[in-house]
Amino acid sequence: MSHIACRALIATILLAGCDRRTIPTTDRESDRDQATTNNDPIPNEEPLIRVRLHRLTGGNPSITIGQAKQAMAIRVGDTEVQLEGPSTIGRKQGRWTASGVNLPTSIASADVVELTSPTPLSVGSHPKRTYEGIIRCVADQDPPRLSFSVINVVKMEQYIPGVLAGELYEGWHDAAFKAQAVAARSFALSRHQQRKSHTWDVTDTSSSQVYVGIPSWNQATRTATATSGEIITWRGEVVPGYFSSCCGGRAALASQAIGPNPINKVPPLDGHSNPAWCTEAPRYRWTGPWDPSKVSRAIRSWARRVGREDLAAIGEVVSIKPMSPNRHGRPSKVEIRGSGGKTATIRCVDLPGVFAESDLNPLSSGWIDAEVKRGFLVVNGHGFGHGAGLCQYGAEAMAASALTYERIIQFYYPQGELTKAW
Ligand SMILES: [Zn+2]
Repeated sequence: MSHIACRALIATILLAGCDRRTIPTTDRESDRDQATTNNDPIPNEEPLIRVRLHRLTGGNPSITIGQAKQAMAIRVGDTEVQLEGPSTIGRKQGRWTASGVNLPTSIASADVVELTSPTPLSVGSHPKRTYEGIIRCVADQDPPRLSFSVINVVKMEQYIPGVLAGELYEGWHDAAFKAQAVAARSFALSRHQQRKSHTWDVTDTSSSQVYVGIPSWNQATRTATATSGEIITWRGEVVPGYFSSCCGGRAALASQAIGPNPINKVPPLDGHSNPAWCTEAPRYRWTGPWDPSKVSRAIRSWARRVGREDLAAIGEVVSIKPMSPNRHGRPSKVEIRGSGGKTATIRCVDLPGVFAESDLNPLSSGWIDAEVKRGFLVVNGHGFGHGAGLCQYGAEAMAASALTYERIIQFYYPQGELTKAW
């Protein structure tokens, strides 16, 4: 199970002619008058998603693509060279190399090369992971142009099953899978539209959403297909379908947990109300000891890096207390008290990153309180992940109570509309 920390946003205008179902509004306050942004229309054709699988750096970086005796081709435009897999693709002195073949200059000196095969390709250290679509290798533009990225260019509906298999457990209820499919598709589409000037839309890790290529089990494919083309929209704009593992019972606002971009301020991303469906999740409540001096050092180091003098002067941490609750009762900041009595605040959204920058055990969530007891900073935490959008454990509990995926989407993205785009 993973959570995402995504920062994408997008707004679109719904094309006439889309099959559109509207989820009735639930327990939201009345519609606020929100300006829409002039972004791309919602496509009525399935887009290609560009998933960055690897970024290779260092001297003569390379990666192995394809399996033994696999028929493959490497191409640039209309120029194509046949290969037999596997082939190690690399960069040497600013040019492409491929083991087992001499590349013509037009391919070796190109910025971008593509690998294709009639059968799915494997890439790098996961020989059991195979990918639909093509594998695109893109050289860095900055000299010395040694580094490159490996990107799977894949149809959205072939991509989504690989996200479901990476994000959920096989055997969870179908409705949870379908809700996750809609959220993941909405997120990927928003990134796709937002990142046109970049070479890739999403990574295959929890920094976007986990993607494992072609799933080895059928439920992921079956439930993705059952919701084909369905996305969350609000007033004709696609809603980036943020999700996390467990919200801890009280939702975060995407505008606080993800970022202040105006599209994150739409009602479907303002968080769900009660009840908390995820109370049975392993990280609904959690506790653990940390070394107070290491935590103090991590906080001071982060504070200096971001120019927070008040926080850098905090000394040794003695307690961390939640404050500034959002409308759902989830804190948006904590107050850190130092041994000298000084206090300073830090946003909950920043806390996991503070821990991640040091060698401390990761913090599952920024919603914590903590106190030094018997030499340890004893942390009590709520949830796993940023808490905005869909809660995966909550979605599974709703599905187990025989609620449909439409109801799950309605609950976690209040006022969102379920739109069949393609
Ligand atoms: Zn939850």
